Amino acid sequence: MSERFFWWTDEQKEILKRVGKFADDHFEEAEYYFWKKKFPWPLVKKVAKEGYFGVGIPKKYGGMELGATGSCIVAEQLGRLYALGHVFVVSMLAGLEQLLKYGTEEQRLQWLPKIARGEQLGAVCITEPFAGSDAANVFTTATKDGDEWIINGKKRYITGAGVSDRYFFYAKTSDDPSIRKEYGHITSFLIEKGTPGFSLERINPLIGFDNVPNGYIDFEDVRIPDENRVGPVGKGWDVMMSGLNFERLIAGAVYVGTIHDILKILFNYTKRRVQFGRTTNRFPGIQNGIAELIAKYRMGRLFSYNCAKQLDDGKEPMVDASIAKMIITEYIRETGEKAIQIMGGDGLTRFYPVERVLREGKTGEIVAGTNEVQKMIIYRFSAMLPAYNESIRLKWNDELNVPLISNKDSQFKGMDLNEENILKVIAHDYKVNPGLYMTPDDVREDIGGSRSTIRKIFESLEEKKLIVTHRDRQGKIALVKGTYDGLKKAFSKEYYQWFPDWYDDVDKF
Ligand SMILES: Cc1cc2nc3c(=O)[nH]c(=O)nc-3n(C[C@H](O)[C@H](O)[C@H](O)COP(=O)(O)OP(=O)(O)OC[C@H]3O[C@@H](n4cnc5c(N)ncnc54)[C@H](O)[C@@H]3O)c2cc1C
Repeated sequence: MSERFFWWTDEQKEILKRVGKFADDHFEEAEYYFWKKKFPWPLVKKVAKEGYFGVGIPKKYGGMELGATGSCIVAEQLGRLYALGHVFVVSMLAGLEQLLKYGTEEQRLQWLPKIARGEQLGAVCITEPFAGSDAANVFTTATKDGDEWIINGKKRYITGAGVSDRYFFYAKTSDDPSIRKEYGHITSFLIEKGTPGFSLERINPLIGFDNVPNGYIDFEDVRIPDENRVGPVGKGWDVMMSGLNFERLIAGAVYVGTIHDILKILFNYTKRRVQFGRTTNRFPGIQNGIAELIAKYRMGRLFSYNCAKQLDDGKEPMVDASIAKMIITEYIRETGEKAIQIMGGDGLTRFYPVERVLREGKTGEIVAGTNEVQKMIIYRFSAMLPAYNESIRLKWNDELNVPLISNKDSQFKGMDLNEENILKVIAHDYKVNPGLYMTPDDVREDIGGSRSTIRKIFESLEEKKLIVTHRDRQGKIALVKGTYDGLKKAFSKEYYQWFPDWYDDVDKF
């Protein structure tokens, strides 16, 4: 039994016990469908009967109301049954968060109980032939005609295509470039299988996602009523974004339980495999490999549930959700690779459920936003955080005659704000950080005074070729540095010299 974290509610602890047992009891059946290459409908129906599809849905709409944490618990355990985990995840992603945040009460009452009962599976349709990571580049159009919308276009890589009854999709409702610039060109809709003109175009033969149909869908003059629009016209991008943190979290969490299963297989296998007169679990390399996977499993799991707790507390952990998705999908691929290596040739055969973990992991690194896209998000949103923007400055310590990271006032603080002193501040910084520019705020921190006066002095010094500037896209001075002429004008040559104690005077010139 996996660890139940101390911050979970009793209901969340209980659901892990229940769904964990369900996964244990149905492992063999999931393997049966893997070999049969069939979509596991009977298993899906059992999951629906247990009510697991409703784990994250509020009780008033027929769900269990166990939040993101409960959803992660169910994803973690159903993920051990391969296809089941993916079906559960996309069915939740196909409307749950979007309806809760943007749907009308009427729409919630219409759709959420169906999702909770698992009586129809759902698919989420963002990706198109020309819109992958650039998800806003949708070509599928929705045109208003009276009380209806006419849909034309295609979506691809849709998990659950064909077996799903409910499709949550995004279409273009404006071609105005100024609206497009503000991401106001997209609107979101729900459509059900069987609507005239809505058809399945192709099923992809994939490296992973065994037994889960993934394919292309086609809209040809499809008419849907305005009641199927979720959220205001032009707000589809916001609707998409509103569910993304949950989506990324759960897209990673679905793999966590599998790492645990692989660890159990490895412990069992290496206790029974003898080479060079010893069981292979006695080889340090094998132990190290298993230890690394245990660390990954525990770190990935802890991080996921920490992120789930933040969502349940009403926060939007943008960076952490991307980290959770990225690290766990990397971990699961690395687990597959390592487990195969530990098991040798046996790991490569399909008789052990190890090779499919490597394939699943590789797939995981692409779905729900590639890991490169996650890294872009992690970098961009972290770069805005105050914690990473606190100024860290090296300042010269005269007693030690070395630069130290310091918060103390510089020796220029309070001096008159004129060209000579500003040039001295900038030239002194060459002694401290020879290869770096200063920001205008660094200069201001060192000498004080008003930003506008400092900027005017920069412009004058630049004109005299005593400093060089680096300007931002708007043409404003973003960074400054002394030219060699500027350095010469500010201080004598000796000012910049520095030699370690052991350096002989005879070698100086
Ligand atoms: C098994 C599977 C299931 C899926 N299920 C669904 C689903 O249910 N619904 C759905 O809508 N979609 C689904 N997708 C689509 C998935 O979300 C996309 O495949 C994914 O977003 C990447 O888009 P793409 O494949 O077009 O690759 P591209 O966007 O063409 O990317 C190709 C490469 O370029 C890199 N790249 C792209 N842009 C940048 C950038 N700005 N900076 C750095 N690198 C960049 C990518 O990281 C990648 O390495 C699924 C995909 C798979 C494989």
